[in-house]
Amino acid sequence: MNESPSRVPRPKSWEALQRALRSIPGGVNSPARAFGAVGGHPIFIASAHAKYLTDLDGNQYLDFIGSWGPMILGHAHPVVLEAIASAAARGTSYGAPTEAESELAELVIELVPSVEKVRFVNSGTEATMSAIRLARGATGRERIIKFVGNYHGHVDSLLVSAGSSAATLGVPNSPGVTVGTSRDTLVLPYNDIDAVREAFAASGDQIAAIIVEPVAGNMGLVPPKPGFLECLREKTIQCGAVLIFDEVMTGFRLAPGGAQELYGIQPDLTTLGKIVGGGLPLAAFGGRADLMDHILPAGKVFQAGTLSGNPLATAAGSATLKLLKQAPPYDYLESISCQLEKGFRSAAEEAGIAVQVQRIGSMLTVFFASQQIVDWVTASQSDCQAFAHFFWGMMDQGVYLPCSQFEAMFVSRAMEPQDIDQTISASRRAFAKLRTMRS
Ligand code: PLP
Repeated sequence: MNESPSRVPRPKSWEALQRALRSIPGGVNSPARAFGAVGGHPIFIASAHAKYLTDLDGNQYLDFIGSWGPMILGHAHPVVLEAIASAAARGTSYGAPTEAESELAELVIELVPSVEKVRFVNSGTEATMSAIRLARGATGRERIIKFVGNYHGHVDSLLVSAGSSAATLGVPNSPGVTVGTSRDTLVLPYNDIDAVREAFAASGDQIAAIIVEPVAGNMGLVPPKPGFLECLREKTIQCGAVLIFDEVMTGFRLAPGGAQELYGIQPDLTTLGKIVGGGLPLAAFGGRADLMDHILPAGKVFQAGTLSGNPLATAAGSATLKLLKQAPPYDYLESISCQLEKGFRSAAEEAGIAVQVQRIGSMLTVFFASQQIVDWVTASQSDCQAFAHFFWGMMDQGVYLPCSQFEAMFVSRAMEPQDIDQTISASRRAFAKLRTMRS
């Protein structure tokens, strides 16, 4: 296949990358931003407004990443900006309680069905780490279950996967994560009800918690099979284990109350991030009051944070959740996301390219695969090279997609039906180009 023109770096982004490489490992502060999965070089962003990103070279892109999820209302929403500015004028951090924290906590409790009490932290990683510690502290058990292809942030005990469909005890997948740390993490295939039943039959009384992305977004978009989440709920109740829904991505995105509202299943604990902070660094874990009261100082499980619940992030989070409550965008997002799904599917079909367009609400992934994706094994059979060409084909036309086959696109409220039409037209040309490259 030919080299796509966009892989030739944009001059100012290229210079910025050289500068960043001298002081920041790999030039980026989070690895996905380096474009490693699609080749080429990252663009450096100068500004963002509503549905658009503008790079240092002045190119404008329709943004389907939305900061990897938070920007459901679009960038620089005036109401959110005003809330941040007015909070900043009163000081940026006090390290002491504020009413703004209670306001955001009340909004979270009102919107997320299973949450009775909530604690704020600064990142999704902190939220999942704390939820796991809480589950272990409350149950007095050590073993946890996670699923292959689910990502829960860079917590040592969760940075574990298994390449086979068999249940295995965790093997760390990053240097620096000790075997000891991940020894108590049991890794099972996503959507595999039998594997869950077997794990509970073998050692149900030792399992502290299951942590799961109720709709997986971190291997591309993979919905739960009917009965999967129900099975997790049933088994954890039977065995006295804690069910943790990691809704860092899906919370306030798939419905006001996230995936748990959409599927009608109440976990014991929920982790939230991204949208709950309105684009500022804030995340949360919450759930049953009796469990949450194990957290220090109400209980004995240690958890703390200098900047946790800081005034700027809570202001941005509350403004965002209030907007979502006042004018719920979910029907609109469903309609334009469905338009996008159908458009991608027919554009690929016209070009004779096999794809699976998988979508729930405003999250979707175009898998370059001929079979439905249900877990990591099927996801990993996708044609990543074809995806990379598609990605650059779209970038050439001003459409910014997640830079990996194994990420979900996020549609924002700032987009209009004509933006979706333009994206579909761009995809028609990108698929056609891919077809020509293949022949
Ligand atoms: N959990 C899920 C489901 C995520 O998608 C992410 C990040 O993408 C995290 C946890 C970690 O969040 P953070 O990057 O804020 O640490």
